[in-house]
Amino acid sequence: MWNEIKSNISSALVYFREFILFLILVILIIFLLIEKLSLSIPLILLLLVAGIIILNLIGRRRIKEIDEIKSIISSIRQSKYQSSDEIVLTKHLSALENEIKEMFEKAKSDIEYLERLQRMRSQFLGNVSHELRTPIFSIQGYLETLLNGAIDDPKVNKHFLQKANQNTVNLSNLLNDLIDISMIESGEMRMSYRYFDINIFIQSIVQEFISMAGAKNIKLFFNPAKEGLQVFGDKDKIRQVFVNLLQNAIKYTDEGSIEIWLDEEKKYANISVKDTGIGIPEEDLNRVFERFYRVDKARSRAVGGTGLGLAIVKHIIEAHNSKIIVQSKQGEGSTFSFKLKK
Ligand code: ADP
Repeated sequence: MWNEIKSNISSALVYFREFILFLILVILIIFLLIEKLSLSIPLILLLLVAGIIILNLIGRRRIKEIDEIKSIISSIRQSKYQSSDEIVLTKHLSALENEIKEMFEKAKSDIEYLERLQRMRSQFLGNVSHELRTPIFSIQGYLETLLNGAIDDPKVNKHFLQKANQNTVNLSNLLNDLIDISMIESGEMRMSYRYFDINIFIQSIVQEFISMAGAKNIKLFFNPAKEGLQVFGDKDKIRQVFVNLLQNAIKYTDEGSIEIWLDEEKKYANISVKDTGIGIPEEDLNRVFERFYRVDKARSRAVGGTGLGLAIVKHIIEAHNSKIIVQSKQGEGSTFSFKLKK
């Protein structure tokens, strides 16, 4: 009991200064009002005893509150709560209860975010390993077959070498895209914005792709906007967007045409790349911008796709404060469009 009283009083000693001030004040009043020393001394002693009892009560209350808070914090640390509603403190600590609840919610959402990030990272690593394995195994297979004698067979040797070579091209495309995506996602992609003539810019890219489209008998058209139209953007990155969209349009179109439309709006230039290719099924439309998502894996790989092109396009366009939109109908073709600031 004495020990309890001692610890109660020592806990209440944080209010020691206030207590002493109060005592001095009351003693002064007693001295002023009661002149007789024989009366005032017992009164002061009584006051001291009452003071010690009050200090004991205050201390006991304080220890109880601290224990309550300690137990809540320790339960949070041991992950005993599922939701903040389970955190309950006595009524007069309600302000603190709200603060603890907010802290709990914040910590919970931070942990969930980190766990999601960790899952995404492992998934990405799994995808990367899988994507690397495919061309490496193919190259290994072709080379081993050649070494085991096929090299002397004029019917297959050139074909196997071509296949191995195509796989090294795929591997190098994949590594380049991986470097791009990791630069973008780590925030290391430096953007360099300036105004440039979008008609001249698209015209030069179209020239580069005419022969690639022609090789598949696909016509490539450009419908320019008014002469001299300037847009604001990173020229190199926008070039990468066009290269990806045009390569895809050619890869996934067997016959017909590809059209690039440039339309001037009040504050923006609207750019669309439209093809008459295989199109994208409705259920895949939202997913084609995800890393490594392909509608038809085999076809994508066969034409040297990495599954990262549209994810890179999306990042670049979003860095321009814009959005890439896709419209498509299976069997009829696809249109990818975005706006650039004038
Ligand atoms: P990939 O390297 O596989 O082409 P992308 O990220 O560029 O990867 O595209 C993701 C997927 O979206 C492709 O695998 C393909 O299924 C689909 N896709 C992209 N562009 C087109 C298009 N123009 N026509 C039809 N499908 C397309």
